[in-house]
Amino acid sequence: MPSEQRVLVTGAGGFIGHHLVSYLKKKGYWVRGVDIKMPEFGETEADEFELLDLRRWDNCLQATRGVDQVYALAADMGGMGFISKYHAQILHNNILINTHTLEAARLNGVKKYLYTSSACVYPEYKQTDADVKPLKEEDVFPAQPQDAYGWEKLVTEQMCLHYHDAYGMDTRIVRFHNIFGPLGTWEGGREKAPAALCRKVAFARFTGDPVIEIWGDGEQTRSFCHVDDCLEGIYRLMQSDFHDPINLGQDRMVTINQLADIIAEAAGVEIEKKHVEGPQGVRGRNSDNTLLREVLGWEPEISLEEGLAETYRWIEAQVREKYFADEPVAA
Ligand code: NAD
Repeated sequence: MPSEQRVLVTGAGGFIGHHLVSYLKKKGYWVRGVDIKMPEFGETEADEFELLDLRRWDNCLQATRGVDQVYALAADMGGMGFISKYHAQILHNNILINTHTLEAARLNGVKKYLYTSSACVYPEYKQTDADVKPLKEEDVFPAQPQDAYGWEKLVTEQMCLHYHDAYGMDTRIVRFHNIFGPLGTWEGGREKAPAALCRKVAFARFTGDPVIEIWGDGEQTRSFCHVDDCLEGIYRLMQSDFHDPINLGQDRMVTINQLADIIAEAAGVEIEKKHVEGPQGVRGRNSDNTLLREVLGWEPEISLEEGLAETYRWIEAQVREKYFADEPVAA
């Protein structure tokens, strides 16, 4: 019975964690949220929310006490601009967070543990073309992950697999491919491409200046998955008995230029793309969802157009409130 199960969500002050707390509450779970900050965009629905720095061992013991399941989402992370710059900080902080949280969960007798990994674990040499072959889970070796961020994710995946083998911990490992949606960071340097482009299009709308900057030539490719599909996927994975790493993303690949066009179309704003120097990450990346379909009998279903239209509306409202509150809204 879900209502008798006690769940910890780490990173519950962040984008996916905040959504996940609400999702699990609707399913009837008792939920503790933990983060170093409260959610920025709305009240948490957690039964209990503790502000704890999970790099610290004592805090991890406190966070994981008395719960049956852990969804481990806490991470020092951000979009390309962030993860291509702060390698030492990211590796140091995330290794501490994940090593301590997993071991504390084991000592506290947690039954199920889900670790949120990333498509950044895949080797850069398999992602050199924009027209890339979708990445299957086994493509991860021989390893050459993207940035320190990807290395840490790969090491923690291995740690979860070894905890499963050595201690019988019921672990899950999910590799997200670009999750987006409302209530996520949209400015400040940690935002990811969909949120950054929504913000730029909203500025174009409010200022009347159609020029939006795109890092690189905009022909780099990715797939993007709506946060509601992400929640459904990780919940289904937690109910399954599958403990090897698994992709969770859309398998529709678009260029960053196309992503900007879809957002501009949803916004009803004419844009002019200006291509500038900037970190682009790998040239192409897409998810192979064969295993996802096999294991969960399901795959993400929210269309990019629908998801981006909703995300744009939310970000436009944020931009308006913060920067253009006194100006009349165009029809
Ligand atoms: P997010 O940055 O919004 O959330 C992460 C949260 O972790 C933040 O609220 C942050 O304050 C918290 N955190 C950081 N350091 C902490 C510490 N020392 N102690 C406690 N909390 C700490 O990111 P998100 O998009 O919600 O991502 C959630 C998870 O999914 C992360 O592990 C991330 O690496 C992974 N992931 C996300 C994506 C994506 O597209 N959003 C893609 C791949 C993987």
